[in-house]
Amino acid sequence: IYILGIESSCDDTSASVICNAKVLSNVVANQEVHSKYGGVVPELASRAHQQNIVPVVQQALEQASITKEQLSAIAFTKGPGLMGSLLVGTSFAKSLALGLQIPLIDVNHMQAHILAHFIEENSKIPEFPFICLTISGGHTQIVKVTNHFEMEILGQTIDDAVGEAFDKSAKILGLAYPGGPLIDKYAKLGNPKAYPFTKPKVGDLDFSFSGLKTGILYFIQKQQRINPNFIAENLNDICASIQYTIVEILMDKLKNAVKKTGIKRIAIAGGVSANSEIRARLLLAEKHWGWSTNIPKFEYTTDNAAMIAITGYLKFLNNNYADVSVTAQARLKVTE
Ligand code: ATP
Ligand code: FE
Repeated sequence: IYILGIESSCDDTSASVICNAKVLSNVVANQEVHSKYGGVVPELASRAHQQNIVPVVQQALEQASITKEQLSAIAFTKGPGLMGSLLVGTSFAKSLALGLQIPLIDVNHMQAHILAHFIEENSKIPEFPFICLTISGGHTQIVKVTNHFEMEILGQTIDDAVGEAFDKSAKILGLAYPGGPLIDKYAKLGNPKAYPFTKPKVGDLDFSFSGLKTGILYFIQKQQRINPNFIAENLNDICASIQYTIVEILMDKLKNAVKKTGIKRIAIAGGVSANSEIRARLLLAEKHWGWSTNIPKFEYTTDNAAMIAITGYLKFLNNNYADVSVTAQARLKVTE
């Protein structure tokens, strides 16, 4: 079974071909236009998707060495995401499926981040039930996954997502967008205990990051008044301290989730699961606390179409297709 996956929910245009659970190609076109604005500009994003989608799909088919006539179905991201961006992928997928007269499969982007774990190339495939910590640019959730399509949100952020916490902190430090990977990079050279930041007080399985961001902002402003070169001179220590605090928060919540559910099988998903510190800490938890952890391959953490294709494949096996009246949905819960 060959599935073409198409992802266009935010600022990356991506297409992937999989053969059963094996990825044959996963092409991602990043949009450079947004970096100078310090965030994604929706209008520019949808325009760039329109320019990218045909060549990206063509490249995905070429790299997989198959023709479009060999495809069994087309899977696309229905939501959540930016409406203008979603519409490009949705209408493209619809017309292609219609033209080829093959099934069309709508995919929930948040489910796809989690189901990326079922791609064959990962070091291991999770066993049910497991707890997934989804940490991305727009979401921060603890999800109990009972089956491929049976999920329950146990806790989530009451304000900012963890990816935003990384990106906004990076912006305060004058780093380019998206700043998460840069904080990770500089943190490797710094002291994580250099500057203690306060962890938020919220429910056992809930998250809050807006207070932390404000705390970081005030701290940096104060230090810069004393020494205008504070950021430049201490960038590594600042990044290490911010990352340490965020990862501590995430680990605390995972510990609470294990305690509450008794489930020790832990997976992480979403763009922030690319972070080297959270990955290292999970491996330690495996060693010291007997957790069994699933850490996705790096290329399946941030937005990619392989995760859309694998979710499409799992739905295909259940004959779970969309009809042509399907529409993009900017808001969509992981459980919908
Ligand atoms: P959502 O999936 O919630 O709709 P999104 O698709 O925009 O949001 P992803 O692509 O899953 O988000 O993740 C992007 C986020 O991941 C950004 O905030 C980025 O800074 C963060 N990120 C990527 N790599 C790292 C890293 N190494 N360390 C920390 N954060 C990272
Ligand atoms: Fe995403």
